[in-house]
Amino acid sequence: MISAKAFAAATARAPLAPMDLKRRDPAPGEVLIDIHYCGICHSDLHCARDEWGGQPFPCVPGHEIAGTVAAIGAGVTRYAIGDRVGVGCMVDSCGECDACKAGLEQHCQKGTVWTYGATPLYGPADPGAAHTFGGYSTAITVSQDFVVRIPDALPLDHAAPMLCAGITMYSPLKRFGAGKGRKVGIIGLGGLGHMGVKIAHALGAHVTVITTSRSKTADALKLGADAVIVSADAAEMRAAATSLDLIVDTVSAVHDIDAYMALVRLEGALVLVGLPPEHLKVSPFTLVGQRRIFAGSNIGGIAETQEMLDFCAAHGVMSDIELIPAQKINEAYARLERGDVKYRFVIDSATMK
Ligand code: NAP
Ligand code: ZN
Repeated sequence: MISAKAFAAATARAPLAPMDLKRRDPAPGEVLIDIHYCGICHSDLHCARDEWGGQPFPCVPGHEIAGTVAAIGAGVTRYAIGDRVGVGCMVDSCGECDACKAGLEQHCQKGTVWTYGATPLYGPADPGAAHTFGGYSTAITVSQDFVVRIPDALPLDHAAPMLCAGITMYSPLKRFGAGKGRKVGIIGLGGLGHMGVKIAHALGAHVTVITTSRSKTADALKLGADAVIVSADAAEMRAAATSLDLIVDTVSAVHDIDAYMALVRLEGALVLVGLPPEHLKVSPFTLVGQRRIFAGSNIGGIAETQEMLDFCAAHGVMSDIELIPAQKINEAYARLERGDVKYRFVIDSATMK
C-alpha cells in the first residue's frame, strides 16, 4: 500500500483541499506511477462542481497525468521503472466487447472505468476507495494497458495536457480527414482549442479559429492558425459562411450551434467535443439544407493516444502551459471559468508533498 497526497473536492460546493489517500501496490499487469504533473481540464471543473450530475464525492479530479514508473507488478512487459509515461481519462475497460476490440475503450459497451469518479468494474481497487481517484495526486496505480509512453521529445509538464486535450482534438481531426487542402475551424481557444489548432496545422490543414475573444487573435496566429473569426462580429461570420470543411467545437458553455454551423460547407461536418451541462438546440434546416453532419467525439482510444503523442513529438507539438502549485487549484478554476488561461494550467505535483 502506498500513501499519497491529493487535492479533492469534498462536496460540489467545497473548494478543493488537501486529502491523504492510499494507492494499491501494483497487482499483476499494473504499474505504480509517480505523478510529476497533472493538467487541469475544464471537465475537472464540471465534475468537481457536479455540473453534469451523478458525481461521487470526495472527488479527486485529474485525467491529464504525466510521470515516471515507480514500481511494476508481476508480468508487466511494456514498462520498466523510470519510464516516462502518461495516463488519460480512463484506467480500465472490459477488453472483450466490440468497442474495446476496435481500440475504442472509451466506448466500452460494458462500461469504461474513468480515471476519477468511476466504480472499478474489472480490476482491483485502491484500499478503502469506492470509486476511482484521479491525477491531482502524487501517485496512481494503473493497468499497463491504460498507460502510454511519453516520447523523450516532449517535456512531461507540456505533455500532460495532451493526455486529454491532445487526444480529444486529434481523434476527430483524423476521423474527419483534416489535412492538406482541407479547411478546418476550431471553436474556442482554450485548452482543447489550442491543441486543436496546433494539431490541425501539423496535419497540413488550413486552420481558422472562431473565438469570442478578439484579444486572442495574435496568439491564435502564433499557434498556427491561418485565420481568425470573432464570433460576435456578424460581418466576419457572414463573410465566412459555408467556407469550412470541418469544425471542431470545444465550447464549454451553452452556445448557438446554428450560428457556427452556418460556416460549414455543403456536406461538411461540425463535431462537438465540448460538453456544456445544458442541452443545445439546432435547427433542422441548418442540417438538412446543406446535408451537413452534426457529430460528437469522445477523447480517443489508447492506441490512438499513443499515435497522437508520437505524431506530436515528431512535429514539435506540445501544450502551452501555466505551471501552478496545487495550492492554486481553486484560483485556476476561477480563471478557467473566465477564459483566463494560456492555454492549460498544469499542477506541479511536487508541491503536494
Ligand atoms: P477551456 O480551456 O475553458 O476552453 C473553452 C473555450 O471555449 C474558452 O477558452 C472560450 O474560448 C470558449 N468559450 C467559453 N464560453 C463560451 C461561450 N459561452 N460561447 C462561446 N465560446 C465560449 O475548456 P477545455 O478544457 O478546452 O474544455 C472545453 C470543453 O470540452 C469542456 O466542456 C470539457 O468538459 C469538454 N471536454 C470534452 C472532451 C471530450 O472527449 N469530448 C474531452 C475534454 C474536455 P474563446 O475565448 O476563444 O471564445
Ligand atoms: Zn479532459
